Amino acid sequence: MKNILILILTFLSINTFAQHMETVEKITWYGQAAVKIDNDGQLIFIDPYQLTSSEKADLILITHSHGDHLSFPDIEQIADEKTVFVCPHDCAETLKEEGYKIIKAVSPGDKVTIDDTEIEAVAMYNVVKTQYHPKENNWTGFIINVGGTRIYHAGDTERIPEMKNIECDIAMLPLGQTYTMNSVEEAAEAALDTGVEIAIPIHYGMYEGTAEDAKRFQEILEGKVDVFILNSGKNELK
Ligand SMILES: [Zn+2]
Repeated sequence: MKNILILILTFLSINTFAQHMETVEKITWYGQAAVKIDNDGQLIFIDPYQLTSSEKADLILITHSHGDHLSFPDIEQIADEKTVFVCPHDCAETLKEEGYKIIKAVSPGDKVTIDDTEIEAVAMYNVVKTQYHPKENNWTGFIINVGGTRIYHAGDTERIPEMKNIECDIAMLPLGQTYTMNSVEEAAEAALDTGVEIAIPIHYGMYEGTAEDAKRFQEILEGKVDVFILNSGKNELK
């Protein structure tokens, strides 16, 4: 009986992992923090920047107002009259001034559902380099439920205590060390904090952080978390 139970549990966990892997294949990284998730035809863009895509977005999530995250040339390229924005309050004000209308302003802890997709806003800030992303700005990372797989996009953040309470299956974490994490090791600790199965490094290779950092992130987490290094701009796994 016990053996059967173990077999069933093993089967279920392999099945769940396979489901998360299928979700990884729905993610395209464009460099910096710009990501597209193709949720069975619903196109979700997070922090669109220097996009090579002009597909129309159903949903655009913005983590904060820095120009490499709230980028109007990119937003113009992918937004149409039906696009829904989810973003912190200050970004919502700027978007309204630019004429965008369907906007859900959120603070850390808020949850919204857009066309059956659940989105949770979570804290995102610096602990050491507080001049860049101060906690009091209430900027937000996001957890997006894609077909039952919870994808965490951390935004520009250092390792913060709130990460221990984040429940997710895939974590996208920043590796640049000038404005976000203080080291690759810290980013790896952040992945472990979330208890995640799969991690994807982002926010490196453009202005800060290198491809070597991504490999080092993968090495540190070997045997603990499966790290997928995406080719920026292509939906391919290295
Ligand atoms: Zn920033």
